Amino acid sequence: MNTLRKRLLGFAALALLMVATSCERESGEAKVEPPQADEQEPAGGRNTMPGLAHGLLQSPINILSNRSEAGHHEIAVNLHHAEPEYLANKGHTIELDFPRGSTIAFDGREYELKQLHFHTPSEHQIDGITYPMELHVVNSIEPKTPDEPPRYLVLAFLYRMGDEDSFIASFLSQVPTGEGLAALEPRQVHVTVVDQAMDFHFYHYRGSLTTPPFTETVEWMIAKEIQQASPEQVRRINQIEGDNARHVQPLYGRAVD
Ligand SMILES: [Zn+2]
Repeated sequence: MNTLRKRLLGFAALALLMVATSCERESGEAKVEPPQADEQEPAGGRNTMPGLAHGLLQSPINILSNRSEAGHHEIAVNLHHAEPEYLANKGHTIELDFPRGSTIAFDGREYELKQLHFHTPSEHQIDGITYPMELHVVNSIEPKTPDEPPRYLVLAFLYRMGDEDSFIASFLSQVPTGEGLAALEPRQVHVTVVDQAMDFHFYHYRGSLTTPPFTETVEWMIAKEIQQASPEQVRRINQIEGDNARHVQPLYGRAVD
């Protein structure tokens, strides 16, 4: 058992103990199951639901640049259809959906490029700084059995206020007012950050989806290079989707590389 795993189990026991203590205080006589460290369970292999105790791999996090470790991961982008074909106003976010057929490989494992969406303000922090906006490019591997959760690879790009972003400009005026879906013209929207993903430098850690069911099977890659969007673009996106960033979650000894 390596040191990180030991540390994680230590934190797991501590966290469960803390939950147990606070439950008892609230209900007086609550019986709480003793913490059980399951050696067989793969790290991040469980689903968690809102309202239930979360695991120890939740996202987003505050990334401390001077504590991130040196790491090396291979990203290979294999784009057949880099242009999204649908644009959705989902009420809580703006989402662009890719047609099937493109993949991004992370350390040799192939994830299918699915969709991208926005958060205002950013969910991840770098050295305690929240940025005005964050873009998530979601890739996934569908499970082979129903009880297995999907696995995700999310590329995240933080935006600061600056020049207008041409990728955002190419679709923003077409976002449906109210919840709904709009078709995009072929090759109308070109997602430059996906195309050039291999040129970026990333922070990496293992975490969760930041929306229900908060599944803890996500390889997170957060680009170190900060993107720019105009204040009008950020304001418009925020107007449509509202403040939709989840609070930062505890690291519980996880390494960021
Ligand atoms: Zn997201």
